[in-house]
Amino acid sequence: MNSFAQQQQQQLLRGHYDAIRSQQQSQQLQAQQTQQAQQQTGGGANGTGSTIATSSSVWDKFEKGDKIGEGTYGLVYHARSKETGGRYAIKQFKGGREGDGVSPTAIREIMLLREMGHPNIVKLESAHINHSEPSLWLAFEYAEYDLYEMIKFHRDNKENRRDNPFGLMPQYIVKTVMWHLLNGLSYMHQHWVVHRDLKPSNVLVMGEDPAVSPAQHGCVKIADFGLARIFQAPARPLSDNGVVVTIWYRAPELLLGARHYTRAVDVWAAGCIFAELLTLKPLFQGQERKTPGNVLQADQLDKIFRVLGHPGIKSWPELEVLPHWVDNTDNVRVRRPEWGGTGLHSAVLEAMRAAAPSWAQGHVPQECVPPREAIDLMSRMLDYNPSTRATAEEALRHEWFRTDPKPGPNVFRMPGAAAPLVRYPRRPMTLDRIPPAAAAAAGGPGGQTHPQSHQDAGLPGPPGPPGGPGARGLGGGLSRGSSQAAAMLAAQQGPQGKRRRMENVPGFR
Ligand code: AMP
Repeated sequence: MNSFAQQQQQQLLRGHYDAIRSQQQSQQLQAQQTQQAQQQTGGGANGTGSTIATSSSVWDKFEKGDKIGEGTYGLVYHARSKETGGRYAIKQFKGGREGDGVSPTAIREIMLLREMGHPNIVKLESAHINHSEPSLWLAFEYAEYDLYEMIKFHRDNKENRRDNPFGLMPQYIVKTVMWHLLNGLSYMHQHWVVHRDLKPSNVLVMGEDPAVSPAQHGCVKIADFGLARIFQAPARPLSDNGVVVTIWYRAPELLLGARHYTRAVDVWAAGCIFAELLTLKPLFQGQERKTPGNVLQADQLDKIFRVLGHPGIKSWPELEVLPHWVDNTDNVRVRRPEWGGTGLHSAVLEAMRAAAPSWAQGHVPQECVPPREAIDLMSRMLDYNPSTRATAEEALRHEWFRTDPKPGPNVFRMPGAAAPLVRYPRRPMTLDRIPPAAAAAAGGPGGQTHPQSHQDAGLPGPPGPPGGPGARGLGGGLSRGSSQAAAMLAAQQGPQGKRRRMENVPGFR
């Protein structure tokens, strides 16, 4: 085992001992969470060292750049620290429902992230509350890549052998991503946190920017804890509170009506991500029924059953108490001929062959072929029965991680390699500038065109003298007027601004 793997395994062992302590911590955390939700403001530093500033506007500390994406709960912007010039991702939370003040989702995300500190979990640097709006802004360490964009790169550059020399994602990258992802999951689960919304766009990867510490280069970070829960606390199904999350990564027990989220739902989602890294398309891409409530997502289950076969109570006894199984909703209990199950191995290999470039002549390029052990691990992560499904710790002990190429600290480069295996393009961003008329009304600069530079797309430069090159962009604190103008701009931008969330819409990838 290489030294990185040894280090990680030692960390895992330490984690086992931590788990004993973490039960107490989780109770403490729940109490803090309740208190925090009541206060809706905070102060001081804690846990991983993030601070909550209630007095200063986020734009006193950061220079705003372009829009990175749009999450379920708000917008994410690229920004630079005015003090250090360091890069950050700033997430703006929309206010809660009328009169509710700061969104409880945001409070939850802050509380959970402040308590967690692990190299494979995104670091929350600071939180800023603007009481007058009210609005809440979270500043995270900036990650240049995410799995959604990396997968998309291979898909969009299928025949571009210069930039995509292996055709598909090489084994080293897939294995290292999975190793990091499972380490982050194992840490979270040992601390009683279940993510509940794992999908490729929520798994970030640090770039190799000179400003980023070399130890962080190519390091995977689990992000977006807005739907995360401490899993001892009863969690209502997401569908109950009208939250839209993609169903493609949803575990079968949830699809069949289970009302409690366990660690196993994250492992299922990670298993789906594993397959997607290999085949470049979601493994189970069902059409979502938009009816509110806990409706049976029949098409999603159909997609799963076609590959894994129709489940039975012999291997999954708890099926008998799952609401949709009990009610036989949409005849889910009646086995159909097409639910024989093609098997994971052939489904994955067939999808890989279909995704491979023409130069591979119908084969999977050699560096990308998953060995049997890889599919074996995937099938352990996609076990129907949540109680026998591999835990993150068990997955990390799997033989696949001990065979060559072994996972390393940097997803992009094999240890000691002079060059990255693949040069992925930097994160795309969307223009976020106030149109001149609105800007004039708001008293701001506005009317900027979007710079095309790949290096620093749409980002104000490092701190400089007032009015100098570093002073372009909105920066310097958003007034109420200018935020209204920004909202006008968002409305004008239309669907483009929503691009990244379209992955939640079946058929949109
Ligand atoms: P979220 O609301 O967390 O789902 O974020 C919306 C989009 O912003 C996601 O697709 C992420 O890839 C991106 N994003 C979130 N956090 C970061 C970060 N720390 N660095 C860079 N991009 C991020």
